[in-house]
Amino acid sequence: MKAVRFHRHGGPEVLQYEEAPDPEPSSDEALVRVKACALNHLDIWARNGLPKVAIQMPHISGSDITGIVEWVPPEEKVFRAGDEVIVNPGMGCGRCDRCLSGRDDQCSDYKIIGYGTDGGYAELVRARRTNLILKPRGMTFEEAASFPLVFETAYHMLVTKARAGPGDTVLVLAANSGVGIAAVQIAKLLGARVIATAGDAEKAEGARRLGADYTVDHYKQNVLKEVKELTGDRGVDVVVEHVGKATWEGSIKALAKGGRLVTCGATTGADAVTDLRYIFSRELSVYGSYMAGLGELLKVVKLFDQGRLKAVVDSVFPLERAGEAQERMERSRHFGKIVLKV
Ligand SMILES: [Zn+2]
Repeated sequence: MKAVRFHRHGGPEVLQYEEAPDPEPSSDEALVRVKACALNHLDIWARNGLPKVAIQMPHISGSDITGIVEWVPPEEKVFRAGDEVIVNPGMGCGRCDRCLSGRDDQCSDYKIIGYGTDGGYAELVRARRTNLILKPRGMTFEEAASFPLVFETAYHMLVTKARAGPGDTVLVLAANSGVGIAAVQIAKLLGARVIATAGDAEKAEGARRLGADYTVDHYKQNVLKEVKELTGDRGVDVVVEHVGKATWEGSIKALAKGGRLVTCGATTGADAVTDLRYIFSRELSVYGSYMAGLGELLKVVKLFDQGRLKAVVDSVFPLERAGEAQERMERSRHFGKIVLKV
């Protein structure tokens, strides 16, 4: 098969479109012919290399995969060759207490497809049979590839962790990012009022189209000051954090008494400073969030099927131009997901 692989860490130039061996699925697995695969920041971290994370080389990135089932073992009863599917990007062991309690994201053996295994920057991918989900019929492969990882993450953050609801004000940072776009939509669906930050007027307009009630330009305006003004000095009930060091201090200070901060990433750096006085005196809660359980992803799929959430695709690149696609993501030029068409 053709695949985009890297044999060493580095910039986009290490990505090579080349011939690779076809994946060989086990009897637990299915073989999927990839139609589309969305990019995530994870792909860039894997390519650059992270301390203490061993990426097996050569590596094929890509966690958000849609495609057509190419092969399943004869004992598979639910899916057949030819079915159009989404591949659940998260993989627990399926047997431990965490997995069996629906918290597969906390499994000690948890892996993300395309990060802990080979992924979807390829014509074929193997995936556990229990990771297959029927693609909603009204969605294209590109649209369906654009949502699983970020929307399940935002769902886990807002519904499961921060328990946002009607009457809450939610601050969503970097609303143009994948998680941001998902968080704005899910917070609105939950009945919350949404303040979104965005890096320019066009992105702010995009966030408002998705339902954000207010937008703040995080380059030109002081986010904390604007939040205080918009909330009558009270602060917000929930902050959706994924930016890290550059915004952390402001995110803590933007919270109202009893507020909840939930974080799923640290794109600008992990060594952020927390003023603990805010945590105890305002009785704040800080939640970590990493992916989601399969049950949560199935709920998200249902919401897309019902048309209550909207896929936002920024751009589509052919597989062989994966390097260019990653450069677009690294420059933060995008609004929505960048998708590879295979
Ligand atoms: Zn497990």
